Amino acid sequence: MSGPLPPPERVLPTLNADGSRRRIRPKLHTGKHWRARLATGWALIVLFVSLPFLKMNGKPLVLLDVPGRAFHLFGRTFLATDGVLLMLLMLSIFAAVIGLTALVGRAWCGWGCPQTVYMEFVFRPIERWFEGDRSGQLALDRRQGVSPRRVAKNLVFLLASVLVANVFLAYFVGVARLSRWITQSPFEHPTPFLIMAVTAGLVFFDFAWFREQMCTVICPYARLQSVLLDRHSLLVGYDSRRGEPRLKGKTKPGAGDCIDCNACVVTCPTGIDIREGLQLECIACTQCMDACDFIMQRVGKAPGLIRYGSQDGFETGKRPRYLRPRVVVYALALACFVAALGVAGMRIGSADVTILRGIGLPFAEHPDGVQNQIRIKIENRGDVEHAYEISLIGATDVKLIAPENPLRVRAGTHESTSVFVIAPRTSFHRGERPIRFGIRDHAGFEQEVAYKLLGPEAPASAEGGS
Ligand code: SF4
Ligand code: SF4
Repeated sequence: MSGPLPPPERVLPTLNADGSRRRIRPKLHTGKHWRARLATGWALIVLFVSLPFLKMNGKPLVLLDVPGRAFHLFGRTFLATDGVLLMLLMLSIFAAVIGLTALVGRAWCGWGCPQTVYMEFVFRPIERWFEGDRSGQLALDRRQGVSPRRVAKNLVFLLASVLVANVFLAYFVGVARLSRWITQSPFEHPTPFLIMAVTAGLVFFDFAWFREQMCTVICPYARLQSVLLDRHSLLVGYDSRRGEPRLKGKTKPGAGDCIDCNACVVTCPTGIDIREGLQLECIACTQCMDACDFIMQRVGKAPGLIRYGSQDGFETGKRPRYLRPRVVVYALALACFVAALGVAGMRIGSADVTILRGIGLPFAEHPDGVQNQIRIKIENRGDVEHAYEISLIGATDVKLIAPENPLRVRAGTHESTSVFVIAPRTSFHRGERPIRFGIRDHAGFEQEVAYKLLGPEAPASAEGGS
């Protein structure tokens, strides 16, 4: 009978065999990919910081006002009630994510994700400035006691976290409200201050301590890679056909091009060995490509032992096949969703009208007719207050009693009012009488809404004689 299996040496690259955290101290290689990522990363940071300040048509370019249930995007306002639009937006995002991942693998993780961008181009440079490169950081790890350099670094991290958290919050509360929160005493705004403090604390925790575990343990996108990628998707891979058999030291006759120098491993921010094949932890950051190209240059070999390619390409030596049926299907689906989103977005007016039956009895009989109580809700998507006139269209025999008419609605808010409609008993057919409400303001908004009044079931012909 076989005994229990020996425990694996390492379950995760970020864990030691005894379960303790293995700190990753990647060695920096400033090759051509790193320079391109640096430029891209800083362009994205500038964009991220600027977006909440930019305006279009007098509205914030991007403001996700969750408490107000209104989303301002590119000069338009979308409300939480825009179910079709939100559904089309979500479908477009899903189709884009699935299609792009099938095509270019985890390029987003390595080049565009805020986790990678801020970690590699803001927090790690600060860390290197205080603690030195990998060797200096490892020396500090081994030292007992508190390191003043590490304390100073963490203070700067905290400051950077507060800045990042404030910019992040500006997307949800807007620059004007955020400025008030910042400039006024925390005692005047205890809840916003708490939100800011917690957000800054989470940012600090992530970049100072949690780091690569966000990608390897938390991020759901990483978990989906096995279903999103196929054998032809672009990935960062090691050419084992060229590199193996690897031999330590200089290149020798009969050996592959890999000299087992470990440069690709010690530069990896998630602590993996790319030579072991496609791994969930690989965020396609290209740092191992730069590291290996540097080594190949030193030993007089061609670069690209670790390079962009596809799993199929690395195994068979064939060129990557980008145009594949699933990529075409995803692209077509995305085009359809985006087109539908555009059409639906253009049909949105400056206000939303909802007409509902009043609470209580569906109708009441009066000497001058059948009365229905109706609730009219108007959402003003505009930037200024509007007065909305409520009327009935083409129904001269029907009387409208509207206590609040016109109904004033402040910018970006909604108001409801109850109206009463009295129609002759004889105008009901099978218990119903169709009418049309007209809602208009003086800024050009005009909408007709069909509604069915409820009344007695008896046929109109029988009513006439009673
Ligand atoms: S294996 Fe290479 S590309 Fe993947 S995360 Fe590590 S360094 Fe980045
Ligand atoms: S950097 Fe290149 S040569 Fe060095 S171990 Fe990695 S794959 Fe081999």
